[in-house]
Amino acid sequence: MTFTNRTALVTGAGRGIGKAIAETLAAKGVNVICVSKSAESCGAVAAAITAAGGKAVARAVDVSDGPAVVKASEELLKEFGKIDILVNNAGITRDGLLARMSDDDWNSVIQTNLTSCFHWTKAIGWPMCRNRWGRIVNISSVTGIMGNAGQANYGAAKAGMIGFTKSIAKEFAKRGVTANVVAPGFIKTDMTAELSEEVQKGATALIPMQRFGEAAEIAHAVAFLASEEASYVTGQVFAVDGGMAM
Ligand code: NAP
Repeated sequence: MTFTNRTALVTGAGRGIGKAIAETLAAKGVNVICVSKSAESCGAVAAAITAAGGKAVARAVDVSDGPAVVKASEELLKEFGKIDILVNNAGITRDGLLARMSDDDWNSVIQTNLTSCFHWTKAIGWPMCRNRWGRIVNISSVTGIMGNAGQANYGAAKAGMIGFTKSIAKEFAKRGVTANVVAPGFIKTDMTAELSEEVQKGATALIPMQRFGEAAEIAHAVAFLASEEASYVTGQVFAVDGGMAM
């Protein structure tokens, strides 16, 4: 995979999948802007990358806060001159059956997981178009493809990311900017550590490979879609799920 003088912004880079994506891109020579909600988590990841000889900076931004995303994007574009790769990875769950799902459970998941993509992509995607080069990778989920009981809010947000990505892929295609989705299955992170042993067992039974994935296995797929070599791939949903959604 080739990366020539590229800068990437990865949201949710403080832990789990986003951390693995930031580390993988940095190991390939990409200058990485690590974004997370808390300054501590993205700061620790950026410091570890720098200590390992890579290039990274940290920026605490609440991605559910539209004006904060716009302000951070403007400042970072000024500071770095360009952002070539955008990975919308930050996400949360507020699971529960629909009958018990509050407006806040619904709104917080839509705002954090889906509306954030709109704000980051609008702010950073258009400058990419002006540069005639860009890669946008949005981290959805198998739930956005298959649905999942107890995740109406999360499934709506993750399916929304797919429709959003395909639409902007069509808007940006003539300008050298690709937009793709990676749809992870069950991956070993803090998010799935919250699930009871019984739910984890039931989920494993649905996975043809009979195991949860590693964050690095998602990061490799993202790195490919962000590389020079993926220049003719756009509007695609790339499931990395041990065969779960096939
Ligand atoms: P995680 O371990 O819970 O980490 C989530 C990251 O997102 C953290 O760095 C967190 O910041 C950041 N974040 C959350 N809300 C934010 C906000 N409002 N503003 C800025 N950053 C915010 O999650 P993960 O398992 O790595 O999941 C990453 C993505 O993959 C999510 O979009 C998730 O839906 C998706 N996904 C995960 C799985 C899975 O099995 N793990 C499966 C399918 C899809 P802090 O570090 O500051 O808390």
